Amino acid sequence: EVRVRFAPSPTGPLHIGGVRTALYNYLFARKYNGKFLLRIEDTDQTRYVPGAEDYIIESLKWCGITYDEGVGIDGPHAPYRQSERKELYRQYADQLVKEGHAYYAFDTPEALEEMRERLKARGVATPQYDAFTRLEMTNSLTLGEAECTSRIVSGEPYVIRILIPENEEILVNDLIRGEVSVHSSRLDDKVLFKSDGMPTYHLANIVDDHLMEISHVIRGEEWLPSAPLHVLLYKYLGWEPPQFAHLPLLLKPDGNGKLSKRDGDRLGFPVFPLRWTDPVSGEVSSGYRESGYLPQAFINMLALLGWNPGTEQEVFSMDELVELFSIERVGKSGSKFDPEKAKWFNHHYLSMLDIASVAVLLGDLLKEKGLSATEEYIQQVVALTKERAVLIPDLYEQSWFFFKEPDSYDDKVVQKFWKPETPALLGKIADLLKQTVDFSAESLETTIKSFIHDNGLGMGQVMNTLRLVLVGGSFGPGVAAIIALLGREETLKRISRAPE
Ligand code: GLU
Repeated sequence: EVRVRFAPSPTGPLHIGGVRTALYNYLFARKYNGKFLLRIEDTDQTRYVPGAEDYIIESLKWCGITYDEGVGIDGPHAPYRQSERKELYRQYADQLVKEGHAYYAFDTPEALEEMRERLKARGVATPQYDAFTRLEMTNSLTLGEAECTSRIVSGEPYVIRILIPENEEILVNDLIRGEVSVHSSRLDDKVLFKSDGMPTYHLANIVDDHLMEISHVIRGEEWLPSAPLHVLLYKYLGWEPPQFAHLPLLLKPDGNGKLSKRDGDRLGFPVFPLRWTDPVSGEVSSGYRESGYLPQAFINMLALLGWNPGTEQEVFSMDELVELFSIERVGKSGSKFDPEKAKWFNHHYLSMLDIASVAVLLGDLLKEKGLSATEEYIQQVVALTKERAVLIPDLYEQSWFFFKEPDSYDDKVVQKFWKPETPALLGKIADLLKQTVDFSAESLETTIKSFIHDNGLGMGQVMNTLRLVLVGGSFGPGVAAIIALLGREETLKRISRAPE
């Protein structure tokens, strides 16, 4: 049975790379009728950020990524928050110690720092706690059993470290990268259990993946360096490891390095699904939802960042993604994030939405601005303007003049088209419209054009002036369509209100 999990640490808002990991896990689980779990990995109390867990759950909900078991949804392996499973991990660390695969270490932070400095002075680029250094440190291997026990009994703080074997090739089978081989001399004796009584990520992650019967670990490439350690832990605990699939990195739009949480607003696009307010600094980072993206567009865009269908098709519903997704079609190399493509997808999805649904979106925007109109009227406006909208707020930007009169007039347009004879011309047009019976856009178009022709006027002059008084500038759909929708009364009112 396929059982996969998304296991974020609540250290801040989820960035789009994290959402992509969740999405691929979700698609994989649905495709094989398996189960998708949400596990919160909060054993690092120093990095805990209040609000992050709720943010993660709300983000998944907005994206339509549902899970079968996990925080907020009961299941056979509850609880799904690691801090609530605290009691469970110690026994496995003890087992590893007993079987000679882990040991106690008493080094103070200062002693560790001193070791790093000493190694750096000897020319070691990345100092590690390993087969060589462990012999110079304070741990159960160098102290001897009696001394070690007495320190523990006396309450001295200690951690439990894995004993990385010497001179071993460790193989990681990755569904995306194939066989990855790492020599044990490159690994350090990672802490498994901390002095605060909490397991580290590595131990808790392995124990939970085992207990929760996870079949496939699908996660970001940044975890690939930890995979050999995880393989060792499975072996030492006597457990069958899951299959691994490490997803390629998301790169900055220019391809220059990894997309980071800080890139978003700095480069002018959101990197978070939802807006996030940092609880400490109060700094606000923009989100896709609040910027006016549809979740379907966001998901479609993310699905293609690392996976490809092998065809030219670009637009996929969630159901189609479930059907077509496969790990084999996930690439090895990083994917450049393209904010323009995100907009393209949103424009596409907005224009595919039916008028009534878009009208609801516009209706919400109007409410926010304290404006209102009948449903029917909003739908007519939407029919005329929705193609121009890329993001949801554009629905309003493209149509606000149907709901309120302009409160200013574009200076450039005024200077270009406002002539001494303009008030008289507008008066004539007002008279014309008063007499016009058929107020449909088509008929108005002909009526106005014949008027222009019969009076020997310039088309551009008249149309631009009319547009100016109706909307306040040189934008919007066709003038006749605007007049038809505004109606006679409102049109005449705007015509009579000449720009100051
Ligand atoms: N807690 C880890 C993270 O925050 C999970 C990594 C994994 O999936 O194993 O990404």
